[in-house]
Amino acid sequence: MAEHFEGSFTQQEPIPDDAIAAALEVLKSGRLHRYNTAPGELGETALLEQEFAAMVGAQYALAVASGGYALACALRAVGVAPGDAVLTNAFTLAPVPGAIASVGARPIFVEVTRDLTLDLEDLLAKAGTARVLMLSHMRGHLCDMDRLMELCGGAGITVIEDCAHTMGAAWNGTPSGRHGHVGCFSTQTYKHINSGEGGLLISDDPEIMARATLLSGSYMLYERHAAAPPPEYFEQPRWDTPNVSGRMDNLRAAILRPQLANLPRQVAAWNERYRAVEKGLRGTPGLTVIERPDAESIVGSSIQVLLEDWPGEKVEEVVARCGQRGVELKWFGAPEPVAFTSKYDQWHYAKPNALPNSDAILAGVLDMRLPLTFSVPDCHLIARIIREEVSRVFQSPGFVQP
Ligand SMILES: *Cc1c(COP(=O)(O)O)cnc(C)c1O
Repeated sequence: MAEHFEGSFTQQEPIPDDAIAAALEVLKSGRLHRYNTAPGELGETALLEQEFAAMVGAQYALAVASGGYALACALRAVGVAPGDAVLTNAFTLAPVPGAIASVGARPIFVEVTRDLTLDLEDLLAKAGTARVLMLSHMRGHLCDMDRLMELCGGAGITVIEDCAHTMGAAWNGTPSGRHGHVGCFSTQTYKHINSGEGGLLISDDPEIMARATLLSGSYMLYERHAAAPPPEYFEQPRWDTPNVSGRMDNLRAAILRPQLANLPRQVAAWNERYRAVEKGLRGTPGLTVIERPDAESIVGSSIQVLLEDWPGEKVEEVVARCGQRGVELKWFGAPEPVAFTSKYDQWHYAKPNALPNSDAILAGVLDMRLPLTFSVPDCHLIARIIREEVSRVFQSPGFVQP
């Protein structure tokens, strides 16, 4: 009898008891709006910002309504205007080009490498076309951040990091989100801390952060923040920054603060699961494991592998066979967008430029979530199932070896 996996790939852990208790306190107070504070009180949202800034070592932090909102807010705050070009990854998810489109700007897609990071050669070739790079650390893969910042510094490019998948990760010891001018995070259910929806934005630049704070809908109450720039930085921008309402509320912040304190333990749990799957898949015929550089401290909340140069129908066969055994794989080579998964050439509104290397690589990318509701033995079982099915299809007589 073939083994079958019974777990759910979309089931996250419950909200911890201390977070539920904190949420109940906010509900009992009735003061859910972040600026609805008692005299002298720092609300949950202000405290979350303060704690997040301290955790990543940023001067300033701002909590907002979603990760996508944080990205769009960052673009406006660094001065992106309608019609401007913004460089970004070909391999990312829909909210990234969506944030660029939401401010009337145009994404210019940069190729992905076999390591699933931004192709720095292609970035260099396109550096003259835009003043801003929105760098998406898609599925937690960090490119060589030292080299990237050197290259962008030389080309006068402002870097906004999309850290939706890298909260808790680092490159050469520097937390993800701290290399670029602005770092954006998501606290949506499928990310690393869970408030249903939510986002965070960090920077050391007081002018950018004053504009971001006003944009987020602070009215003239920015002095109630505890991780915002001093009031003098708001003097000028308060006259000419629109209020694009997108605040976080105290209920979500209350749920997030205990989870943030527990993040290092969660990261360790994710990585134990990631390494278990990685080990189980290594050496599978026809399958390439993505090697993670020593400089990268990962958060293994998902794992990707390559079926390089496989015919599309054979990749589909693997996905279907694994699916029948309870293992849910996403394929970035599918001809149509499915559920959360879509690809740059399917974002027609963005008039995507052609990217032949990315097409070839993405045609072989399989992607799998690793929620913490899975045990380590679950991860061993999942790896055995994928290994068996990939081997079976790869070694079947009908397979024309690449
Ligand atoms: C989820 C996600 C976002 C946006 O986050 P939301 O909080 O859902 O708006 C941005 N970038 C990537 C890569 C994501 O996966």
